[in-house]
Amino acid sequence: MKYHIDTIPVWDAMKEDKECLFCEIESRMEEKYVEFYLGDSVMQPDVRQKTNKTGFCGHHYQMMHNATKKLPLGLSSYTRLEYLREHLDKYFDSIVSEDKSLKKSSAADMAEYINKITSTCAVCENVDENMKRYLYTFIHLWKSDSEFKQAFLNSKGMCLKHFAGMIEFSKKEMTDSVTLALAKDMAEVQKKSLARLSDDVKYFNDKFDHRNVEKPWGTSKDALPRAINKLSGRIIK
Ligand SMILES: [Zn+2]
Ligand SMILES: [Zn+2]
Repeated sequence: MKYHIDTIPVWDAMKEDKECLFCEIESRMEEKYVEFYLGDSVMQPDVRQKTNKTGFCGHHYQMMHNATKKLPLGLSSYTRLEYLREHLDKYFDSIVSEDKSLKKSSAADMAEYINKITSTCAVCENVDENMKRYLYTFIHLWKSDSEFKQAFLNSKGMCLKHFAGMIEFSKKEMTDSVTLALAKDMAEVQKKSLARLSDDVKYFNDKFDHRNVEKPWGTSKDALPRAINKLSGRIIK
């Protein structure tokens, strides 16, 4: 077996009954890793070498900046900047230089390198690696635990990002027949889920009509954050 099975977080997230059980798992992991990179790890050379190289994506920088303690982010941002300067200066100097023999790289090379060096994130890498284990665990439970399978069939399903991610993962790791049967169950759940959510959002919008002011909100009061979760894979808090 390639992945360590960890059923408790998957069952816990299923019981939460949210728009995507994997977003729930992912969100908890993100918080854990953000805390890790803002904690004592900032002083560990191996961790700093990694974060100098990868940096963080905008979403995770934002989460770190929202934390009360600012110095850990200041320290890691400084050495990340130094790392980038060390690697980018040769491109800058080459572009700036009037000496044609020194112009080894073009502006396009520079843009490509900047895109490459800034498209990584230490938290995203940790989360993605762990997420594979949870996708694997989900399929294991779906195959072996009839109570779990039933809970999934009655659930709100997944966001579209994790829905597609799950199918791609299954295609890579499982037999065709497992992927086909899983995709069938997932499509059934997802079809119902999108129809229900769409009705909720429609009802939410209709509530802005003065004729509907007195009507109860029903299940539509939090329809927008749930729709954003389903559409984008982000949990709005
Ligand atoms: Zn999700
Ligand atoms: Zn990230």
